[in-house]
Amino acid sequence: MRTLLRDITVIAMDDEHGSEPFTADVLIDGDRIAELAAPGTVARLPGDTVIAGRDRLVTPGLINAHLHSWEALFRGRYDNLPLELWMLLSYPILGLNPLPERLIHLRTLMVAIESLKNGVTCVLDDVIESPGQSLEALGTVFDAYEQAGIRANCSGNIVNRDFTDTIPFANELLPPELVARVRADPPPSTEEYLEFSREALRRFDHRAGRLRYVIAPSGPQRCTEDLLVAANELSLEHDTTYHIHVLETKVQAVTGQEFYGDTLVGYLDGLGVLSERSTLAHGIWLTDSDIEALARAGASIAHNPISNQKLGAGIAPLRKLLDAGVNVALGSDGGSSSDSARMFDVIKAAALLHKITTPDYEQWPSATEVLWAATRGGARSMRLAGETGALAPGLKADLVIFDLRTINFTPRNDLRNHLVYSENGSSIEQVMVDGRVVVRDGVCTLVTEAAVLAELRELAPEFLSRHGRAEEINRVFAPYFAEIHRRCCAVALPINLSGGAEAAWLADERLRA
Ligand SMILES: [Zn+2]
Repeated sequence: MRTLLRDITVIAMDDEHGSEPFTADVLIDGDRIAELAAPGTVARLPGDTVIAGRDRLVTPGLINAHLHSWEALFRGRYDNLPLELWMLLSYPILGLNPLPERLIHLRTLMVAIESLKNGVTCVLDDVIESPGQSLEALGTVFDAYEQAGIRANCSGNIVNRDFTDTIPFANELLPPELVARVRADPPPSTEEYLEFSREALRRFDHRAGRLRYVIAPSGPQRCTEDLLVAANELSLEHDTTYHIHVLETKVQAVTGQEFYGDTLVGYLDGLGVLSERSTLAHGIWLTDSDIEALARAGASIAHNPISNQKLGAGIAPLRKLLDAGVNVALGSDGGSSSDSARMFDVIKAAALLHKITTPDYEQWPSATEVLWAATRGGARSMRLAGETGALAPGLKADLVIFDLRTINFTPRNDLRNHLVYSENGSSIEQVMVDGRVVVRDGVCTLVTEAAVLAELRELAPEFLSRHGRAEEINRVFAPYFAEIHRRCCAVALPINLSGGAEAAWLADERLRA
């Protein structure tokens, strides 16, 4: 089956054109792009679907390099909490029961629908289930992404150290009986995680030709050394992504010093687990030598500017990362810390946030750099560089067609600026994944949004009231975590952050011990 986009404006993000718009015929044959040719030159064959390209723009689909579908049910629930206190509520440690599989399915479909309608053709879902992940629950997530028609990399996320051992000063500050309650339910062992992952790879990896299983130790401080190393070997064996949260908050920066006498990146580097397969979510509290190590290893950073602002986590050193040659991707993070999976919001935030970190406007990210991160950078971070992220012959036909007659594109100035600063997804006419139309006229074609939302409206309240009870149980930790947060924020660190972030954090005398 062939589709011909005739005489259409293209932003290809390929090596030849970058973000420079041009006009072309784009031929899609089956699941791949067959040809980009001069306008009007591709011969139409009987049976071809032809889309008139007048007043239309085609771009590669956006790639969301870091999200957690678990959080989709907490959209709009929290405000004004730093990560360590917010996690107590979004990922309660005590008193939580597994989510019914139907709710997992619906929640994941909602993430897929929101993503597709916003021009996202590929996601990395770091799938966390509390209180623990099962193969059945993970299978439900894969089922939902398969059904919605999106490309997805889904993890087995693992924490295999006792919770209070993952946060500095926790064992010292928490009452012993509370530590004992946490320890009463031990986390999975390294061997159990490896066995889980091997089975997940067998069951889910490469499903439908576009779904992959991802190895995801939750964070260096949340896993044992042997797990971090063995998980990396497994990711090498299967050429799958090694996805890990690193240096999202100042507490985590202090964690490196307290636990390992090193930065968390230095620690991972020392274990030999940084490579072109590793994607570090966040990477905010990085030293210059951390950045050099990431560049040397060919690792990626998944930058989440909205989530980082919502949780007051800090500002990633984007310019330094780009200058050092570190691959940068963009992510929304979970629906609790960012309240949506809309990548157009993330793109705009990424382009704006760094402009307030320095008056040196030559350092500010350009629209092209941000679009690159949202497409090519994301693809590379997921081991999909030769498959998606650009429009070029041989690549998968993962693309978005915009109607340029909308307010967002009127009058037509620089289309790249329109995409980054003005478009919000409402100009999207069609989205294709693997050459298949998954959004037409702004509506998902393979899932019925209204039915998914109606069922969620029916099922979610009971879950949320149970979750509310778990929140109450876990509020017992809050005063101690507030103290940990305060104590860590008062520590002076030898870190060269993007100007504004450093000044704000280090100058806050109220946080000093
Ligand atoms: Zn995350």
